[in-house]
Amino acid sequence: MSAEERPTPMGESPYSSHVNLACCVSCHRALDLPSQHLRALDREIAAVSGYRLLGARVVYYGLCPECQKRNGR
Ligand SMILES: [Zn+2]
Repeated sequence: MSAEERPTPMGESPYSSHVNLACCVSCHRALDLPSQHLRALDREIAAVSGYRLLGARVVYYGLCPECQKRNGR
């Protein structure tokens, strides 16, 4: 899977899947970041907590490549 840009899936239930996003603090665009590691993390969290997990949202904050260029970095 590729990390294509798409709008933040606000309409989707936050409890139905593991959503992994990189959010730009400057232009507020969100990039979906699918990762195989999240499934392993889900299993680890479920094992540690004893919860039957329904979903998760992980958001990484930073500057997107466009904003880095605009800021001259
Ligand atoms: Zn940006």
